[in-house]
Amino acid sequence: MLYEINEKAIKLENEGKKIIKLNIGDPDLETPHEIVEAAYEAMKKGKTKYASSLGEKSLREKLASIHGVSADNVIITPGSKWGIFSVMYSLLKDGGNVIIPTPYWTAYELTAKSLGAETRFLKTEFDSNWKIEPEKLEALADHNTRTIILNNPNNPTSKVVDGKTLKAIVQIANDKKISIIADEVYSDISFVETKSISDYGDNHVVIKSFSKAFTMTGWRIGYIIAKKELVEKIMKLNQITFTNVPVFIQEAALKALELRQEIVERIREEYQKRANLACEVLSKTEMEFSRPDAPFYLFPKYTGLDSERFAFDLLDKGVAVAPGTAFGNYREHFRISLTAPREEIETGLKKICEALE
Ligand code: PMP
Repeated sequence: MLYEINEKAIKLENEGKKIIKLNIGDPDLETPHEIVEAAYEAMKKGKTKYASSLGEKSLREKLASIHGVSADNVIITPGSKWGIFSVMYSLLKDGGNVIIPTPYWTAYELTAKSLGAETRFLKTEFDSNWKIEPEKLEALADHNTRTIILNNPNNPTSKVVDGKTLKAIVQIANDKKISIIADEVYSDISFVETKSISDYGDNHVVIKSFSKAFTMTGWRIGYIIAKKELVEKIMKLNQITFTNVPVFIQEAALKALELRQEIVERIREEYQKRANLACEVLSKTEMEFSRPDAPFYLFPKYTGLDSERFAFDLLDKGVAVAPGTAFGNYREHFRISLTAPREEIETGLKKICEALE
């Protein structure tokens, strides 16, 4: 549904209609120019050849020092989407099931399905502030459970898992010998303190991306932090598929890391302003919502809403949002992405409110 809405929005745009796109997590902000320059410089220096399927040593070492691991535990991927796919492939290709807390980012379920893996959903609710209940997780896991996908901060709710819950989840996974795939692509730009799964030992897998924290979605670069054995398995998969992320892009990513404090701060600040604006508008309506702990999303609820119909009808009024059903059984919810300029967000929200009247 996420992808259908996007296709229709693009079709309408191609027909000349103005669409305010609050449906996808692709930021309007530009990639900082220092990063662009670094890629260009590297290209001019001839960094345009095949290279290691693990990633460049300099980048892996820099990431290792940031995360307090060894470079052997880091592998560079073309976006975190490939990172997630490659880990899910490695853990699920021989069967088993995967536990996915809902609401979830659509690609987890589609990837599990493409691998023929059984999916088990762990529902979280707006009324309990989207909290994962460790007892329910424990009850869902069995000897065939290969992995739990933990998206923290979560897309679409923008909620962060508290330390106590995280600890309980890790305990269950460790006891049952299940690997957690912690998708932490939004954690660097969180508005609140966000613990990493790696704060609770090195048994699990961390997925990271340059897309969100550095507005580098189209560059296609992310990384995985995992045990050396898993890193080596993924390297083999990389070798038979894309070979390597272009070296000039890895050099640009290295520049992003050098400037990370300044860039991340700036990006977080902008999203905090957008989130404040959106919360102010929504709080004057009948929509119920929880304040986001992180960029980029709000996931409001409107009692009685059929969000699929709503999302399609709203497109004709010039605004794209994602229906709640794209993230699990959440028909009364829809997702607003704050990835457009503030004026557009304001106009988009106004149109959303009018459509709900
Ligand atoms: N994880 C989550 C939770 C996401 O929302 C996204 C993109 N929307 C990704 C991973 C993939 O990001 P990328 O492949 O650009 O790193």
